[in-house]
Amino acid sequence: MDSSIMPMTALDLSQQIKEGKFTAIEATKSVLNQIKAAEKSINAYITVCEETALNRAVEIQQKLEAGDKTLLASPLAGVPMAIKDNICTKGIKTSCASKILGDFQPFYNGTVIERLKAAGVVIIGKTNMDEFAMGSTTETSYYGETKNPWDLGRVPGGSSGGSAAAVAAGEAVCALGSDTGGSIRQPAAYCGVTGLKPTYGMVSRYGLIAYASSLDQIGPIGRRVEDCAAIMEVISGWDELDGTSLPDIKSKGSFLQAVGCKADGSREKDFSGELRGIRIGIPETTLKKGVDEDVREALFTMAEQLKTQGAELCPVSMDFLDYVLPAYYIIAAAEASSNLSRFDGVRYGYRATEYEDLTQMYERTRGQGFGREVKKRILLGTFALSAGYYDAYYKKALQAKAVIKEAFDRLFQGCDCLLLPAAPSTAPKLGESLTDPLKMYLSDIFTVSANLAGLPALSLPSGFDRQGMPIGTQIIGPALGDRLVLKVGHSFQKITDYHQKSPGIKEDKQAQGKGEQ
Ligand code: GLN
Repeated sequence: MDSSIMPMTALDLSQQIKEGKFTAIEATKSVLNQIKAAEKSINAYITVCEETALNRAVEIQQKLEAGDKTLLASPLAGVPMAIKDNICTKGIKTSCASKILGDFQPFYNGTVIERLKAAGVVIIGKTNMDEFAMGSTTETSYYGETKNPWDLGRVPGGSSGGSAAAVAAGEAVCALGSDTGGSIRQPAAYCGVTGLKPTYGMVSRYGLIAYASSLDQIGPIGRRVEDCAAIMEVISGWDELDGTSLPDIKSKGSFLQAVGCKADGSREKDFSGELRGIRIGIPETTLKKGVDEDVREALFTMAEQLKTQGAELCPVSMDFLDYVLPAYYIIAAAEASSNLSRFDGVRYGYRATEYEDLTQMYERTRGQGFGREVKKRILLGTFALSAGYYDAYYKKALQAKAVIKEAFDRLFQGCDCLLLPAAPSTAPKLGESLTDPLKMYLSDIFTVSANLAGLPALSLPSGFDRQGMPIGTQIIGPALGDRLVLKVGHSFQKITDYHQKSPGIKEDKQAQGKGEQ
């Protein structure tokens, strides 16, 4: 049965487990087998929780067989899922892919983890990422780079590259990532899977190790939009442990309903995915320069396909895009420099072994424990916040952020959502971004604005380039428009099959000897 669950989506798998066609144990074993087969070539995980996952699957299976009402009503019961390694999991190493956290095992679960557990999800392991989520390639991890399952010579994107690669390679059915400036959407695009950065405040950040708190948001990665909707249904909603969590979002409707599913994940009959009355903005001038031709073409083709579902296309202008990268990199670095001050060798993980006094212990611990990219950002952020430069950089960046938010508000008066590439190109070759970091920062141009303005943005497979690498296009909506972007994305996936293609890592690449057992 191993390979038969592989292409399955989370929703289908859970339905079949509840119907008794598979057991939760078989599903977990199947994913663990795929991890054994593919992990040497992909390196998507930092920690695989084989034993706890199997025990948990047994527990869920027993509860289902005993008729547990909560689990039978859950859209994700029995589904093996991967979690990015910056989300706290009780008793399971949570490293942020950094040496400085060592073997840190949190004594509590993040709110999203508690909610997934209550819904009967099986946590398979913790995925690789750029150190402290800083990066766009998953190459800055202390645990080595993750490879793109479509081409092992390319990056999977980042920083949630491990989560996206795990889903693409069948090493997890779905996953959680976090997105501060594109880290769910861009790796989802590079790996040919679907990922959502929710509206800021929609999902609790309690237990997410902070990078830039005003921009960070946890979100789902799956094979298709329906799975992202199911995960949102489970993890979203007000949380008293997160002061920025939005109240009352559940009363505004269901995520599953937006994609034609019932609360338990079964599909409504006759869901047409019709988009009549929805106006989709196309920023034509923005796409004229600095975007690969294949990426641009994929977006225009997607727009035409959405039109056949009844949507109306309208041109929009995004001339504020020139400001988004400087504003983002100043705000993100400033917040990071403050957030990362807690890693001092006293409270968590790693501590330098040789030092003469407390100051030297701090210096050596941080000097040895943080990687290059993280140190660069701490220095940049400290500089931007220092007296004398605060007004010129940090304050200016906050002003730009406000202007960007207003520009989006105006833009959404003329359309309901808009299309934008997830990245200007498909996945670059391994090593390229490390030698040209500025190019890497520039490639975040299309993702960071949604974080600065707190908006929901969905990235979904929309084609392949000439090298056969997946292309992702984003649907960005107004604040709280998460259901709308999911609806539009689902409608697109109803009439296309890009999301159904898989890299076939097990059969092809391994058989060719590029990876071994
Ligand atoms: N690439 C961006 C950065 O390095 C975004 C990262 C993220 O979203 N976590 O800051």
